[in-house]
Amino acid sequence: MSKTPTLETLQRLADVVGEKGVIRGAVDQAPYLKEWRGIWTGTTPLILRPQTVEDVSRILAIAHETETTIVPQSGNTGLVGGQIPNDGEVLLSLDRMTRIITVDPIDFTITAEAGATLTSIQDAAEAVDRLFPLSLASEGTCRIGGNLSTNAGGVNVLAYGNARDLCLGLEVVLADGRILNMLKTLRKDNTGYDLKNLFIGAEGTLGIITKATLKLFPRPRRYDTVFAAVPTLEAALCFLAQSKQASGNRVIAFELLPELGIQFTVKHMNTRRALETVSPWYVLLEMADSTEAATETILETALEQSFIIDAVVAQNDAQRRELWALRENMSESQKYEGGSIKHDVAVPVSELPRFIAEASVALENFMPGTRLCCFGHMGDGNMHFNVSQPLGMDKQMYLDQWHKMNRVIHDIVVKHKGSFSAEHGIGVLKREDMARYKSETELDVMRSMKKTLDPKNILNPGRVLP
Ligand SMILES: Cc1cc2nc3c(=O)[nH]c(=O)nc-3n(C[C@H](O)[C@H](O)[C@H](O)COP(=O)(O)OP(=O)(O)OC[C@H]3O[C@@H](n4cnc5c(N)ncnc54)[C@H](O)[C@@H]3O)c2cc1C
Repeated sequence: MSKTPTLETLQRLADVVGEKGVIRGAVDQAPYLKEWRGIWTGTTPLILRPQTVEDVSRILAIAHETETTIVPQSGNTGLVGGQIPNDGEVLLSLDRMTRIITVDPIDFTITAEAGATLTSIQDAAEAVDRLFPLSLASEGTCRIGGNLSTNAGGVNVLAYGNARDLCLGLEVVLADGRILNMLKTLRKDNTGYDLKNLFIGAEGTLGIITKATLKLFPRPRRYDTVFAAVPTLEAALCFLAQSKQASGNRVIAFELLPELGIQFTVKHMNTRRALETVSPWYVLLEMADSTEAATETILETALEQSFIIDAVVAQNDAQRRELWALRENMSESQKYEGGSIKHDVAVPVSELPRFIAEASVALENFMPGTRLCCFGHMGDGNMHFNVSQPLGMDKQMYLDQWHKMNRVIHDIVVKHKGSFSAEHGIGVLKREDMARYKSETELDVMRSMKKTLDPKNILNPGRVLP
């Protein structure tokens, strides 16, 4: 249970940001207290919206002194409940710290405040003819502080890496209010422990990220986007390997889509099928700066070898967006099919067919009649193994099975040397999995880091660590 802050403490915190930086009323607070899927709804005595790193520093110094618990929030698109004040904590929103500070096309870097939306960073890079490649379906709303705190992945990880790989420097406010400035643009810097990496993926439990310096890349001049029907998962993997090799490593996205997911998306999200051919699986392949001839050769060979059975190539930007809409709307389309129990898992790429086969059988044994919508980032081994409820079942009764079903699937993931949380993090949702699957030594080291950096346990208590 969080300690309830006194009225005096709340006033001291509010004074840091002034009345314009505070949200007290229930109606105005509501959008910050409910997450995207409606699974968690929180309460808070106060929402603070600082404008500078000094504000954040003063807030945390007071919180540390008074043992007031704080939940940091950026875009509120997190899927594991970490950004919602579930226990009456004070909420600190980064949504007024949105400045792009510098964009350097020679260094290929961009520096921004933590509250800059992912789209605004992509746009600022594009304005100087550069690419910031992190790309998620939530990119219009999520913010870079949240992306780094969750070490977000998305659709381009196989070519550019995840948020951690894209970060050169950070500014972080520690739990006691000290500012740790690690805002470097260096590509090489072997000077002691790499502290910034501690805060990336820490989900706000070790410090609050206030600024970040990120890597940019040359902006591709041409995209080849292919939607292909594949007969089996094994064939899809052969198609991936062949495309990577034959394109000279230009594959930037390789997403798996199941027939059921296409049906959901077409039915609920105002999209249309890309192919008339019906197959159990499809892939969305994208290559950057390949050539038309190379793409043709790749598809001809894939057809000859039966890696694919049909395919369409986007002829212009509008068609490219249409193909991507089938993928990007897949998460949301499941909302309209009743309860959906999620698993954000990764296994080695070559294990995917065996994992999916084994987990599908276990799922049917666990609860007959569920509808599996397993889709996602096949190119890096990360599947959203999402399971819609059996038709006609009561939604709440189904969702009550969440943890039990997770256990069945996560045991299989771990057997295949995988991860029970590939890109969404732990938050409050997967703390029990940490206890089950992480070794005591790993947990000990994590707990000692937490104790060193946040000895009073005021930052996102009850998240990540069991
Ligand atoms: C439709 C949809 C699609 C998605 N697709 C993907 C995907 O493909 N890949 C993927 O990885 N994720 C995906 N997500 C999940 C989510 O968008 C990411 O986790 C994102 O990185 C969260 O960013 P945010 O700004 O919304 O963070 P929030 O939700 O605000 O916070 C997430 C966590 O980080 C902490 N935090 C936030 N800001 C800070 C800060 N400045 N300092 C310290 N801690 C902080 C919070 O306390 C919380 O624990 C998707 C979500 C949705 C709704």
